[in-house]
Amino acid sequence: MSITVRAPAKINLHLGVGPGRPDGYHELSTVYQAIGLYDDVTATDAPEWTVTVSGSGELDVSEVPLDDHNIAIRAGRALTDHHGVDRAAALTIAKSIPVAGGLAGGSADAAAALVALDRLWDLQTSDADLLAIAGRLGSDVPFALVGGTAYGTGRGELVEPVVDHGQWWWVVVPNDAGLSTAAVYAEYDRLGLGETLRAPEGLFGALADAWPEGLSGELHNDLEPASLDLRPELALTKRDILECGAYAALLSGSGPTWLGLAGDADHAREMAAALASTYPVVLCAPGPVAGAHVVTYA
Ligand code: ATP
Repeated sequence: MSITVRAPAKINLHLGVGPGRPDGYHELSTVYQAIGLYDDVTATDAPEWTVTVSGSGELDVSEVPLDDHNIAIRAGRALTDHHGVDRAAALTIAKSIPVAGGLAGGSADAAAALVALDRLWDLQTSDADLLAIAGRLGSDVPFALVGGTAYGTGRGELVEPVVDHGQWWWVVVPNDAGLSTAAVYAEYDRLGLGETLRAPEGLFGALADAWPEGLSGELHNDLEPASLDLRPELALTKRDILECGAYAALLSGSGPTWLGLAGDADHAREMAAALASTYPVVLCAPGPVAGAHVVTYA
């Protein structure tokens, strides 16, 4: 028997990064949104843990580890440890989320693996336990389980749903060369940023109002200066997105993916068509969408 679970990419509509903590993480005040770009993880019972990875279209998956470092296998082991069971599975990951793009693709795979294995083996893990295991695997993993739009605190692992009446559309412009999240945070510290933790302020009202012009003024990413410091050429993508008519351009997490806020689906497609003359890959994605969910039992 196999189970396939689909989990979404995340973007941060607001990413406030506070001072470094003694445990090495930064305190975050963030608003996540799950967008319609997905990885599918298929789990099948097997005598030992294995993982295979494929990428849709031109997606480069060469940096994704195929051993125990793969976060989907780490998720599987964390789940079996939690239940004290000695089982293993073959995991097959079909990626559509760009790797090291600031879209938390690895976290999506971990969340999908947790849900797939929980169902495959009928472990009946409680939501609270699943969220706790997810939080230990990575700061963005609990959100990949929950999806929608959510406020994240702590190091991002504590999530609560946010009222969002919008049907937002994003143009997604990935970059060939990934950016290490750790390197961006190190640069953030080196620049002496993050003395205070910035709260989302007007963002919650804008989400409830479902009005793109209103949302555009509330999007914010504290990491943008650090990412641009490491990769100054990324500023050109921001300019191009704004010049083609986006309400706002937003760096996704630690980058290098940029997002353009569109007014609706047609506007997103028009902008994507214009940007496609300069950028090899331009995607359109709606948000918010559901968190990790079963798509097939076979
Ligand atoms: P972060 O979640 O740290 O913000 P990101 O969204 O920028 O990261 P990911 O696609 O999650 O980037 O991958 C970050 C790194 O994690 C990759 O470069 C890779 O080495 C490692 N990794 C481990 N498992 C996976 C996986 N299943 N998919 C993608 N990357 C993985």
